Amino acid sequence: MQQLSRSAVKILVAIAAAISLSTESSASTVVVMTRGVPSPYFATTIATALQSSLSIALVEMAYGDVTRAARHAQASGLPQKITVAIDTSAISGSRATDLRKWSEEAVAEWQDAVPAVEIEFVPFSTNATAHIRFEDRLVVDGRRVAGFIEWQRRVSTRGTKSELDLRAQIRISNRFSTGGLMTESQIKKAVAHEFGHLLGLQDDNCSRSLMGPVGPSASGTVGEQEKQAVAELHARSEQVAAAASQVRPESRRPRIFVFAK
Ligand SMILES: [Zn+2]
Repeated sequence: MQQLSRSAVKILVAIAAAISLSTESSASTVVVMTRGVPSPYFATTIATALQSSLSIALVEMAYGDVTRAARHAQASGLPQKITVAIDTSAISGSRATDLRKWSEEAVAEWQDAVPAVEIEFVPFSTNATAHIRFEDRLVVDGRRVAGFIEWQRRVSTRGTKSELDLRAQIRISNRFSTGGLMTESQIKKAVAHEFGHLLGLQDDNCSRSLMGPVGPSASGTVGEQEKQAVAELHARSEQVAAAASQVRPESRRPRIFVFAK
């Protein structure tokens, strides 16, 4: 009976955690206080894989596997530092300088969405979190595209500490589909869009929004909705990871076998 009620409490805690942003803990029980519901953009804007990872973390919490809960929560979050290397070696002349400058400005637009994450530009040769490479024309699967990203998130564990390793290869086209050079606003949108994927966003179909396609007159810089969704994903991942780290795993709690009187 006692076991049953304890599981019931854990499930309720997990459900509460799904709709809250702050936690407190005492001993082995996590008390979750609700503070607001997820923003309406969260479910439609955040990549499905990351939402799943966060949900799995909550289910693992409910079943008492806090180690797995922490790993899944971290997998949907962000590292403390993101290093970005820009490669313009395929582009000649002063255009390369422009591309670098516009890329840095586009990435910097994201910084206030995740103030706790340090975003730093590093030389191309280093082992950066994200490599942004410019190509004169970018062709993927036989199609000319504006940008392209491949990312992976891996959580590695050393001892009792686990850490997220985030890696991304981003490629951006120097030219628009019609052959002319991409404008400053098109380049900025393409870079900010791909970086949005790195931070957890998924595509949408609206060319006016950042996560929509790049049109002839590119509009769509990093908006408040996108920033809010990324900030929310980061806060929720951190919250679940922190809550999991405060719970002592069931298996490590001593069990007492008493003598009958
Ligand atoms: Zn995209």
